[in-house]
Amino acid sequence: MPDKVQSTLRDNHSPRRRFLKIASIATATTALGVAPAWQLAYAAALTKAKRDKLTPDEILAAMKKGNERFRRGKESPHDYLAQQKMSAKGQYPAAVILSCIDSRAPAETIMDLGIGDCFNARVAGNIANEDILGSMEFACKVAGAKVVLVMGHTACGAIKGAIDNAQLGNLTGLLAKIRPAVDATQYQGERSAKNYGFVDAVARKNVELTVIDIRRRSPVLAEMETAGAIKIAGAMYNLETGRVEFFA
Ligand SMILES: [Zn+2]
Repeated sequence: MPDKVQSTLRDNHSPRRRFLKIASIATATTALGVAPAWQLAYAAALTKAKRDKLTPDEILAAMKKGNERFRRGKESPHDYLAQQKMSAKGQYPAAVILSCIDSRAPAETIMDLGIGDCFNARVAGNIANEDILGSMEFACKVAGAKVVLVMGHTACGAIKGAIDNAQLGNLTGLLAKIRPAVDATQYQGERSAKNYGFVDAVARKNVELTVIDIRRRSPVLAEMETAGAIKIAGAMYNLETGRVEFFA
């Protein structure tokens, strides 16, 4: 993954190294007689110019790298105030993430992303309904995001509820939207919510079906993907290891 992408999605340089790099770039650009580019290159939040240069694959790779930093305990030194100030007048997020409401799976944190880097839609069991699809269409077609990432996670309570056919108020209808993944999961062994192997297999199948569902029910996003403007991908977050596994 090119360094430029890392410094674009998340500036993880130390202040000292950043200063040295800025100084050398400033010297070079002065020598060339053009305006210094470092204000943009080292800004806190994504700018339109920086985001527009990234390809969907580069954005996915940057998310993967961010998760590696998270797992090593080497997250970027986020200057949230600087990111907040810089993004206040406009946002240019690179991706829209659909993930579960689970308190242990905050997408931005586990992929070391900052304010303004991504849209994040969260709903139990990370299923796509009309409102979620509309949000994704806004994120990509209107706001310019280039990646749609559906992220499930291990030991998901919503998946367990769907397996058990849990009934509770409005939750019943939500869990019904996960049921097709339960039925579609091929699994050798006990098909129960007590078997975490099965629960995680269903969670993965649910992500795969949601990705297919997004393409099928959103011609806007499907056409953008066919044209190469965006990529729709799936991922599973492992609560035990902290790893995000990406898959198409
Ligand atoms: Zn969950």
